[in-house]
Amino acid sequence: MGRKFWVGGNWKMNGDKKGINEIVKFLEAGPLDPNVEVVVGVPAIYLEYAKNNLPSTVAASAQNCYKVSKGAFTGEISPAMITDVGVKWVILGHSERRHVFGESSELVADKVVHALETGLNVVACIGEKLDEREAGKTEAVVFEQTKAISDKIKDWTNVVIAYEPVWAIGTGKTASPQQAQDVHIKLREWLKKNVSESVAKSVRIVYGGSVTAANCKELAKEADIDGFLVGGASLKPEFVQIVNANQ
Ligand code: PGA
Repeated sequence: MGRKFWVGGNWKMNGDKKGINEIVKFLEAGPLDPNVEVVVGVPAIYLEYAKNNLPSTVAASAQNCYKVSKGAFTGEISPAMITDVGVKWVILGHSERRHVFGESSELVADKVVHALETGLNVVACIGEKLDEREAGKTEAVVFEQTKAISDKIKDWTNVVIAYEPVWAIGTGKTASPQQAQDVHIKLREWLKKNVSESVAKSVRIVYGGSVTAANCKELAKEADIDGFLVGGASLKPEFVQIVNANQ
């Protein structure tokens, strides 16, 4: 099927130039598995700095952007600006955007459309909250979040889906490999039925939520887990081990 393993770091609102230099050092030391696509999500103000300093095998990503290219939207950045500083990726719909900043699935989908039209690669994040899982609504939630996007885009080539159960993010409570695999396979079935068989087979679905060096190998063994989106551990040297989870 040829889905290249993909590992993203999500630095969130952490770090400074000194901290970025330290991360650059452990990424340079690696060695990073050359068969893995590695991307790190950088605070907007440091995007250009990170891009200019990261090893050439590690791409920088924005963590958010707005749904239009310019205008009276104080504090926002556009895909055009991200592209202008030479960055090729953006993370959209992260649970902190959805639940701390109140972004709807509709807004996330509009952002995905515009980012793709501008030529960016998109990490589209989806995932259920704990009460939704406990109420047996996991599938309904992730399908709704995926449908909002699939209603508006045709070409999934430049999209990586990140399944991140909200209850697993930053909590130390990782989904078990089976729990993650169950949702990933359901998502692939949904894509097959509602988009196409080829998209279902080719789109990368990565898992996020308390991924560490200690649990990444077991998770990576699952057939439908094509990589990770890593928060806390992406700021530490163990990120190298997570990139190399398949070795
Ligand atoms: P975590 O964050 O690895 O710190 O749980 C994951 C994410 O929010 O992408």
